[in-house]
Amino acid sequence: MKILKIFLYDEPSVPELKVDELCKFVQDTFSVPVEKRKNIFSLANEKTASKLASCRIFNTRKPFETHSPTKEEIEFELATFYDSKKTENIVMYDGFEFQRIVSELISDYETTLDKLHIVFTNKLTCTYDDSDYRYHGRAVICSNPAIISTTGIVEAPAKPRGYYLELISNVVQGVNVETMKKKYQGTYLEYNDKRFSAVSEGYVLQVIFYYLTGEAFCESRECRLNNAHWQSDLLYSQLEKGKLCGKHQKVLEQLSTLYNNP
Ligand SMILES: [Zn+2]
Repeated sequence: MKILKIFLYDEPSVPELKVDELCKFVQDTFSVPVEKRKNIFSLANEKTASKLASCRIFNTRKPFETHSPTKEEIEFELATFYDSKKTENIVMYDGFEFQRIVSELISDYETTLDKLHIVFTNKLTCTYDDSDYRYHGRAVICSNPAIISTTGIVEAPAKPRGYYLELISNVVQGVNVETMKKKYQGTYLEYNDKRFSAVSEGYVLQVIFYYLTGEAFCESRECRLNNAHWQSDLLYSQLEKGKLCGKHQKVLEQLSTLYNNP
């Protein structure tokens, strides 16, 4: 498998996500031409809006069922196509349905195997887990096109245990939640966090590794391919370490030789 070109689609509602810099990072890491694209939904129409609204999740304890969208839900989707900042409440979407809908937005000419599309979106992709019979937020759906959810990066890996315990007791006692958030600031990634781009590099690596090798994730926290379940692990693997483990560094070197000796 050889990729001839990678496309990165911007999510303008998160200005801390520097897609230009991410393009350079990918180009330098894999020696593959990378092109920055506008938000994937910027040219989408009402049909797409209706399909997206149909894959909303309302009951996290039930496997996917197509939803019959209301006029308001379709209009909401359309409004986010023009301005993705319009999202106030977090809406959950079935990640695989979402991925399929996004794939229909890419022209036939560009859906060849040697072109990889990586789509950033602030919409929250979720997948139903058969092991505990419920939906979970996902930061990344590895496929082509691959989906990286900026909301998923913030919401899917769990915050420190103490944060939730204090949140619960604060709600009961009526203590200011903002003060509590300040206490934990820095221990997890926030919306509009300066560290967003650096953390996103890890998810982009996971997508590309998956496409090239069939394996996206690494067990080791010492590796940027680690599939973090906790925010602390995410920040550790992506920022404190910021490297691949020895095994995956070798894989990367093998992949680069492939590219440099066609
Ligand atoms: Zn690794």
